[in-house]
Amino acid sequence: MQTPKKGNIFIISAASGTGKTTLVSRLLSRNKDIRVSVSHTTRQPREGEINGTHYHFVNVAQFEDLIGQAAFLEYANVFGNYYGTSHESVEQLQNQGYDVILEIDIQGAEQIRQALPDSISIFILPPSFQDLSNRLRGRNTDSEEEIKKRLSEARNEIEQSLLFDYLVVNDDLDAAENNLLHIIKSNRLKQSNQKQFIENLLENS
Ligand code: 5GP
Repeated sequence: MQTPKKGNIFIISAASGTGKTTLVSRLLSRNKDIRVSVSHTTRQPREGEINGTHYHFVNVAQFEDLIGQAAFLEYANVFGNYYGTSHESVEQLQNQGYDVILEIDIQGAEQIRQALPDSISIFILPPSFQDLSNRLRGRNTDSEEEIKKRLSEARNEIEQSLLFDYLVVNDDLDAAENNLLHIIKSNRLKQSNQKQFIENLLENS
């Protein structure tokens, strides 16, 4: 049996509260050939979050052990907690032919751009700051202090969006999801992603 072609890697970043997680889970539920890499974090689980599904929840000592073992493709400190993408979580999915989404912050995105220049980066923008502030308050998961910290960080993150390959504004979930899917699908059609097909076609001519 032919080994599946390696999947592509898509970095998806956004200021928190932009609806990135909702968008990614919608995309995954409707497209079985796309998977998200499960990160490690030292942050406490939020209500409803499952270890191994949403994150691998570890303590600081465990995370630092993994850093020492060079287990991470990238890692960063975000809002006072460690977050990292392990080599294993990405490679396993990629080798099975899945397109892999890394839902990571802008520091991690920069590290991946350096390490994997073929990766494709997408930044999701809110339609306005008012909208972002409403969403952060509406989800009722963070303290007021945490929300203020996230809003001031959002400005800095949005400035960095110019380093990304694609920008998607999330003013309408369906439209934004569709745009993400178009980006992923058009990458599959790139000549560089179809070399094997061309070789097979010529071999059997
Ligand atoms: P949250 O605590 O809301 O789940 O995530 C906070 C931020 O950390 C988000 O911007 C999220 O994308 C980012 N994040 C989640 N996993 C990773 C990771 O593995 N690496 C990096 N660099 N950031 C991550």
